[in-house]
Amino acid sequence: MNLDTLCMHAGYTPGNGEPHVLPIYQSTTYDYHSTDHIGQLFDLSVDGHMYSRISNPTVACVEDKIAQLEGGVGALCTVSGQSATFVALCNILSAGDHLVACSQIYGGTTNLLAVTMKRFGIEVSFVDCMASEEALAAAIRPNTKAIFGETISNPSIDLLDIEKFARVAHAHGLPLIVDNTFATPVLCRPIEFGADIVLHSTTKYMDGHASVIGGAIVDSGNFDWRASGKFPGLTQPDESYHGLVYCDAFGRAAYITKARVQLVRDLGTYPPAIAAWILNMNLDTLALRMERHCRNAARVAEYMEASPKFESVKYPTLASHPQHALAAKYLPHGCSGVISAVVAGGRPAAACFLNHLKLASQVVHVADIRTCVLHPASSTHRQLSDEMLAAAGITPGLIRFSVGCENIEDILADIEQALETI
Ligand code: PLP
Repeated sequence: MNLDTLCMHAGYTPGNGEPHVLPIYQSTTYDYHSTDHIGQLFDLSVDGHMYSRISNPTVACVEDKIAQLEGGVGALCTVSGQSATFVALCNILSAGDHLVACSQIYGGTTNLLAVTMKRFGIEVSFVDCMASEEALAAAIRPNTKAIFGETISNPSIDLLDIEKFARVAHAHGLPLIVDNTFATPVLCRPIEFGADIVLHSTTKYMDGHASVIGGAIVDSGNFDWRASGKFPGLTQPDESYHGLVYCDAFGRAAYITKARVQLVRDLGTYPPAIAAWILNMNLDTLALRMERHCRNAARVAEYMEASPKFESVKYPTLASHPQHALAAKYLPHGCSGVISAVVAGGRPAAACFLNHLKLASQVVHVADIRTCVLHPASSTHRQLSDEMLAAAGITPGLIRFSVGCENIEDILADIEQALETI
């Protein structure tokens, strides 16, 4: 099936006389008729749901859909994008380990890596996402366990050269973890370019209607944990499952199974069935929505670039984007709805523009069906120092303009009337 068909049909196929729409299994637990069977579930020697902190039939269908969309061997849903990032990393990093991450990533992820994970003894080095292979390799230490970046960075709209990053990671026996939130699998499937693990804040385009916070981790199944020799958590016995070895018991699905049955079991970051159901309904239209987002955003970016009221506009389809050529390779069907632009006149002019928009709303959100806008330096990224802001590509007049699916003429008219007030 093609991707737009998978959006609607993957994950759930009703049998004869069964509900046409994915049912919501609103149950914390599951009935079994023998203690032996429950024992086998606890030993992970048979498949089945035992408790909805670890798996649930409704969520499982959505996980299957997301895995198929990204082309992975399995997926795990989480209660937020933040918990997806945390689980994806802590599945393979422990105290004393080190991570190489791109500087141009979501501010909340920067906090998670540089503040909270640091408290747990995990160190991070930030590198520019446009770093040369040599510079990237130079950041890798003997205790480095992964390389991390965003396909399209939030909010600076820089692109990750996935093949290049995967090449360097693999040459050092490391997995490449890619946050594919802004691109979605409709626009880019990082696994096809060598990414090993793909993450999502499903809160963004996947849900796309500002209705449910969520996250997802997808395992490509391609990384050879054993050959790397750096991941004892996957290749040595887990005493909490009587000495089970994930790579032996689950083969290509070792990473994603460990994340679920060990970390999510202990952290309690599994989403409720209703949240997964809403996500699933919205995933049905993901491909349709992305097409409109991309078309509208390309028009808005051109309009903004032609206006003297903007100092600069960053959107990958514009020839002025520093990585315009990479967009053709990684994002041939469009570059999402998110534009990063610097309003001429700095912070006061940006505030004036935002305050006068009528259709577009100022919300702490992005990648939504309704056009929305945010000033990162005073919101999502306000915890970052000036140096970190500069490294993340954020200046005082920068706005993140998330173009929705409304009629393009209405969006442009709104921008025009707000610009007249500056
Ligand atoms: N990754 C990216 C690229 C994001 O933009 C966000 C949130 O904005 C997150 C991760 C965190 O996701 P959530 O807000 O769902 O926890």
